[in-house]
Amino acid sequence: MDEFELIRRYFDRAATADGVVIGIGDDGAVIEPTPGLQQVQVIDTLVEGVHFPENFNPTDLGYRVVVVNLSDIAAMGATPRWMTLALTLTAADDEWLTGFAEGLHGACVEFGVALIGGDTTSGERIVGTVHITGEVEPGKALTRAGAKPGDRVFVTGTVGDAAAGLDGLRTGQPVKTLFNRFSRPSPRVAYGRALSGLATAVIDLSDGLLGDLGKLAEASGAGAEIELERLPLSDDLRGHYSADEQRRFALTGGDDYELCFTMSGEPPDPGILQVTEIGRITSTPGVACRLDGELVEIEDPGYLHFQ
Ligand code: ADP
Ligand code: MG
Repeated sequence: MDEFELIRRYFDRAATADGVVIGIGDDGAVIEPTPGLQQVQVIDTLVEGVHFPENFNPTDLGYRVVVVNLSDIAAMGATPRWMTLALTLTAADDEWLTGFAEGLHGACVEFGVALIGGDTTSGERIVGTVHITGEVEPGKALTRAGAKPGDRVFVTGTVGDAAAGLDGLRTGQPVKTLFNRFSRPSPRVAYGRALSGLATAVIDLSDGLLGDLGKLAEASGAGAEIELERLPLSDDLRGHYSADEQRRFALTGGDDYELCFTMSGEPPDPGILQVTEIGRITSTPGVACRLDGELVEIEDPGYLHFQ
């Protein structure tokens, strides 16, 4: 199977989506943006052995490489539209590619994004890069930069599950429901759009709550304070780990892909999604944590590449 046969077989799903003038198969894709809307561009790479373990389920990888990007689109309050994929493979294995394509196209269908092109190469480990273009009303993109002292800090869903799931894999005692939160994150695309025009600042949680909230606070020229009792923790996390471990995963574990946002008033109706108030924006730089009202020190600011 050569490169062209591979693309045709696994990736060319004749994008009939809106705005696709020329899709996969030519030297470049041509899209027709919605008149009057601004574009949001996001890109994220997943490297085998760095962002996902070796022998990771290919269907989950295909799904995950799309949704980690959709989480950035969500954090910008945008609507996802078009996507390209750069894929490096160690071998052209039919079973692996069938699984990967199933997860990838599944995520595209679920969130209404069209695969319009890409590049396929061979290399020494599996690397997947997805780029997504989203659209947003002019001036309505959400940013990290608008939080004001006194704003309330909220987080969607529960935090710490994905990191605990990965930890279970390392220790040889995997908890399936927790590992599922790592392999199949739920990007909060609809809620991100609902926050548009309401939230003062938004960030998605990819590197851990403390580090990511710290980035939001810094971009806003402010600080934050959170109350550790308020952290939204799943029953699974509580059931399998000590209070200390729960807190460590929730604060410094990455890969949750929930949204952390700030606003002065009430958040929009989240429907069945859980939204929890965890603290306040302050004028003191950094993120302070309180447990039973007392300030506590937390080490480990989350995952940093190239330190
Ligand atoms: P070129 O050599 O001109 O860059 P390629 O042979 O790499 O073109 O790709 C042929 C077509 O297949 C292009 O439309 C490209 O966007 C698409 N393509 C290549 N790899 C992928 C992939 N992994 N997923 C989706 N489309 C792909
Ligand atoms: Mg090429």
